[in-house]
Amino acid sequence: MTILDPTWTALLYLVAAVCFILALKGLSSPKHARRGNLVGALGALVALVTVFASSRLENIPWILGAIVVGAAIAAPVARRVKMTQMPQLVAMFNGVGGGAAALVALLELPNASDGWLRLAIAFTLLVGAVSFAGSAITFAKLQELMTTRPVVFPGLPVVMGVVLVAAVGAGAAVVMSGSAGIAVVLLGVGLVAGVLLVLPVGGADVPIVISLLNAFTGLAVAASGLVLGNVLLVVAGTLVGASGTILTRLMAAAMGRSVAGIMFGAFRGGSTAGSTTVSERPVRSSSAEDVAVLLGYAQRVIIVPGYGLAVAQGQHTAAELAQALEARGVAVEFAIHPVAGRMPGHMNVLLAEANVPYESLKEMSEVNGDFKQADVALVVGANDVVNPAAKTTPGSPIYGMPILEAGDARQVVFLKRSMRPGFAGIENELLYEPQTTLLFGDAKDSLAKVLTAVKGL
Ligand code: NDP
Repeated sequence: MTILDPTWTALLYLVAAVCFILALKGLSSPKHARRGNLVGALGALVALVTVFASSRLENIPWILGAIVVGAAIAAPVARRVKMTQMPQLVAMFNGVGGGAAALVALLELPNASDGWLRLAIAFTLLVGAVSFAGSAITFAKLQELMTTRPVVFPGLPVVMGVVLVAAVGAGAAVVMSGSAGIAVVLLGVGLVAGVLLVLPVGGADVPIVISLLNAFTGLAVAASGLVLGNVLLVVAGTLVGASGTILTRLMAAAMGRSVAGIMFGAFRGGSTAGSTTVSERPVRSSSAEDVAVLLGYAQRVIIVPGYGLAVAQGQHTAAELAQALEARGVAVEFAIHPVAGRMPGHMNVLLAEANVPYESLKEMSEVNGDFKQADVALVVGANDVVNPAAKTTPGSPIYGMPILEAGDARQVVFLKRSMRPGFAGIENELLYEPQTTLLFGDAKDSLAKVLTAVKGL
């Protein structure tokens, strides 16, 4: 089989790299996101075909077999995944990417005669393994296969210190000796480090960690590009690393957090307080008809959407309710918290799907002052993002996170199914405040009942 000329290979890699950059540009606006995604996939296809055409590959049947098996697993999973499970999928794909980079580096070690190359291999092994194990824990937290609260144990900082020293020691030994045995140890140390890094992260900080691990995978892939002498991997990995880092910083800033504080806060014994047990205190519950009266005769209503709205797929009914209220002369806004739901921009996507006008969606900084003038804050399937513990309870897993000030409204109505807490696993005092009423039930059903009652006023 003829092998592609190196000039053509370089040119095709350039085309793929440009596709990746255009994909990122497209993904930065909802209008062009779909096209951006397609352009990115096209870039990946060009890259894949170029690799086959430009190198004298061995074991082609095995490679094709792995591609078929991978595609057969990933395609149905990606098609079937619910919108609310998207972060788990991202965590899984991200972790697999980091793990693959680490395995490639391990296999390349026997061919690495140069110290710099072995340094790149040690880096890829460590960072790829951290990303793989950290993403697996994030997946388990998001899928609620384990507690979503910070997991800490006495002596954790010491164990982490030992693991870091072991990582540096094993990394240095790999660089100097090129020993495959020590490389496997380094891989193991990386896996332990990944687990220990993510276990103490809880509650509201998980989204930021997903983004950080994404950046780690990008760096591991870029380093594996150096190992393989593949420019495109370096470019693609650097793009992922850079965009992941920027997103991490933006999200941390929006949450009033520092990245170091998120990763190491719990090591200081910080964010472990709070209770998962639901207290038996009385709350005020109400009927759909009563809620309709509250809303229908209000002047200003602020709807706070959260994860439960997405689970219930109640966005269309929420949009209809807003329209019905506006038709009665009520001013309605939607207050969007940066981490409401389970992925960045989740509420924006959800409400855009229901054709809620963009002007009705208000960012947290924009809307927080308005709650004082609102007659009703209608909290639909949201919990952590309005939990005052973020301001009042030092040591709470969400302490320091900016919240939507729903409690400032004259009346607060929660639509939820039970007294269970939100993702952070902590009680919400706002549920017990005298101005708060609960309408128990699935968000979509409750919204539909309230809508019918509003129409009948
Ligand atoms: P929360 O997870 O705090 O609360 C969701 C609420 O929805 C729960 O109280 C639940 O109560 C209720 N609920 C669930 N299903 C339904 C349903 N079918 N009908 C009605 N209510 C329902 O959500 P928030 O959006 O307030 O906060 C998001 C949390 O997720 C934050 O802690 C954030 O850090 C975290 N997170 C965010 C990510 C992101 O990128 N946006 C990613 C990962 C985590 P009940 O069971 O009683 O119905």
